[in-house]
Amino acid sequence: MKIVMLGAPGAGKGTQAKMIAEQYGIPHVSTGDIFRMNVKNGTALGMEAKAYMDKGELVPDELTVRILLDRVAQEDCKNGYVLDGFPRTIPQAEVLDAELTKLGDAIDYAINVDVPDENIIRRMSGRRACVGCGATYHIVHIPPKKEGICDKCGGELILRDDDKEETVKNRLNVYHAQTQPLIDFYTGKGVLKTVDGTVDSADVFAAIKSILG
Ligand code: ADP
Ligand code: AMP
Repeated sequence: MKIVMLGAPGAGKGTQAKMIAEQYGIPHVSTGDIFRMNVKNGTALGMEAKAYMDKGELVPDELTVRILLDRVAQEDCKNGYVLDGFPRTIPQAEVLDAELTKLGDAIDYAINVDVPDENIIRRMSGRRACVGCGATYHIVHIPPKKEGICDKCGGELILRDDDKEETVKNRLNVYHAQTQPLIDFYTGKGVLKTVDGTVDSADVFAAIKSILG
């Protein structure tokens, strides 16, 4: 099963993608996580990506597509994957589609997690991400068991640089201009499913499970 998660930054794509990955036994592939890991490790890719990420802009398509295609060519992606944060532009979606078509394959579901902009800013300021494993929490809605500490790996939880309010506003503008058109793209392919992302994360997941079966 090949799934694409769509939605604004902070809509809950990562939260749901991790649950899908666990439930259906497929890898969770997040280009944002791949970039952050590279930033943390100080690689050349990380240095290049960081300049865009800090401003809330998109990393150029050419670089992002290369990273993603390398990742999904790995053995663990053979039986499917859930993509979180990719594609984010029409050219990215077109390359992915063309590569899958070459393999006689296609995306099975594009799940659009729908959350209005008003809710997003509130959510992002409360998001805390683990520096160790990338797990995400919310200080009010999805708190860790112990404040500031990751439940899964014991790592430190931080506010991401790009979750500061001004950057979030820019990321939302970028989302509307460049990523939202993917809703029409995947509607055209007949695979778009929209879920209400404003409800409790367990209820969002229940709606997704009823789509995926
Ligand atoms: P995205 O991957 O789309 O950027 P995340 O999954 O990281 O979004 O979620 C953004 C923030 O909102 C996180 O702090 C997360 O814990 C919180 N969150 C996720 N789903 C919900 C929900 N259904 N209700 C309230 N908060 C949520
Ligand atoms: P995310 O964790 O998905 O919110 O991504 C964090 C940041 O990484 C984004 O704001 C972009 O700067 C960059 N990024 C992640 N995925 C992509 C993508 N598919 N295309 C371009 N930039 C991306």
